[in-house]
Amino acid sequence: MNKPVVLVVEDDAPVRNLMSTTLKTHEYKYLTAPTGKEAIMLVSSHNPDVVFLDLGLPDMDGIEVIRKIRSWSNVSIIVISARSEDEDKITALDAGADDYLTKPFSVEELLARLRVTIRRLSMMSTDGGADSSVYRNGKLKIDFPAGCAFLNDEELKLTPIEFKLICLLAKNTGKVLTHTYITQNIWGRSWDNDIASLRVFMVTLRKKLQPYPDSPEFIQTHVGIGYRMLKVE
Ligand code: CA
Repeated sequence: MNKPVVLVVEDDAPVRNLMSTTLKTHEYKYLTAPTGKEAIMLVSSHNPDVVFLDLGLPDMDGIEVIRKIRSWSNVSIIVISARSEDEDKITALDAGADDYLTKPFSVEELLARLRVTIRRLSMMSTDGGADSSVYRNGKLKIDFPAGCAFLNDEELKLTPIEFKLICLLAKNTGKVLTHTYITQNIWGRSWDNDIASLRVFMVTLRKKLQPYPDSPEFIQTHVGIGYRMLKVE
């Protein structure tokens, strides 16, 4: 994949400049927009690969920007919000954002989030992405039609719910999935006790996927938010 084009949407000029300087230093192509309206226009005219979107914009609600963009584009969206705005992050993820960055963030965090997203994009283009019938990620293999998953060529003994969970996470590798999104997909609803059961299922699933302390981490926990399947090198 060529160097992706990144759109930075941020009304705060010093933060916007820091982000664009960082992208420039690392040879990313980038565009910037200080408002939601300009962001929507640039997504439609320049078709960027990744959008960093500040949720607190002067002209429109960031969530509204996501909904508008999502009505026609699958571009990866990483939202930026203040530490106190956990609810906003969850709403943004449920509205179709892929990931989030919490202010204040470091240049390293910005670049790390970008790398996760780019790995996801290149995985989608090389492995047939979410439509492929066999999923491979490091030593993990999932055969969707056969209903089995393998780690180091050994079949994992998964319960039906664990298999559903691993498939959902795998099909969204690189994306943070919220508790609500996951429970609605697995149980068709999202009650408090479903979220509590989800935690229990995730603990057992992670033990099966990471049998040894030095095994690579496949499932990342986002406390209070949800889970993400990582692309393992
Ligand atoms: Ca702002």
